[in-house]
Amino acid sequence: MSRYTGSVCRLCRREGAKLFLKGDRCYSEKCAVERRNYPPGQHGQGRPRFSDFGVQLREKQKVKRMYGLQEKQFASTMQRASRMKGRAGENLLVLLERRLDNAVFRLGFATSRSEARQLVRHGHFLVNGRKATTPSLLVKPGNKVTLREKSREVTRIVGALEALEGKAVPQWLEIDKDSFEGTVKAMPTREDITLPVEEQLIVEHYSR
Ligand code: SF4
Repeated sequence: MSRYTGSVCRLCRREGAKLFLKGDRCYSEKCAVERRNYPPGQHGQGRPRFSDFGVQLREKQKVKRMYGLQEKQFASTMQRASRMKGRAGENLLVLLERRLDNAVFRLGFATSRSEARQLVRHGHFLVNGRKATTPSLLVKPGNKVTLREKSREVTRIVGALEALEGKAVPQWLEIDKDSFEGTVKAMPTREDITLPVEEQLIVEHYSR
């Protein structure tokens, strides 16, 4: 499986939005979207013209890149969302939000989703007391996401938790920093996804 290894700031510039892929830097004035808010490449400063397909594609790419999924994974999540009750677009966002790597990021154990994914893969977390190394695992209300005892000294996790000081975690999660444990209080809702996303465009993209 090929994974994108180039500059992630290019991805934000391509989508014209901050996707928060680079941890602390995203909150600083060094953010590439703040400094060069136009698409990368030789023609980046030209006037962009998008067809309907182009608009839908960009919206899909934006969300896919934000959550760090490959095309195949993203398409199968979309399929699953379409089979669920309710609006497919909202279901898609809720499924993405429920991923374990996203929950770890949202709880403040990591400064970006890609860092959270790596920490999960390396076995730093327990879900309901059992080791969980699958970033795509879907958390549900009542689940406890705990940092393993031997990982509590890992500098980057401690640093991420310290950086969380004063910042709120989403209302569907709760973090107890003293016990290094997060709790899933409820299912995430559409309102918990704060980045401007027009999910209907993604549904239309896959309905073509
Ligand atoms: Fe995107 Fe973060 Fe880079 Fe800014 S610093 S362009 S938000 S990855």
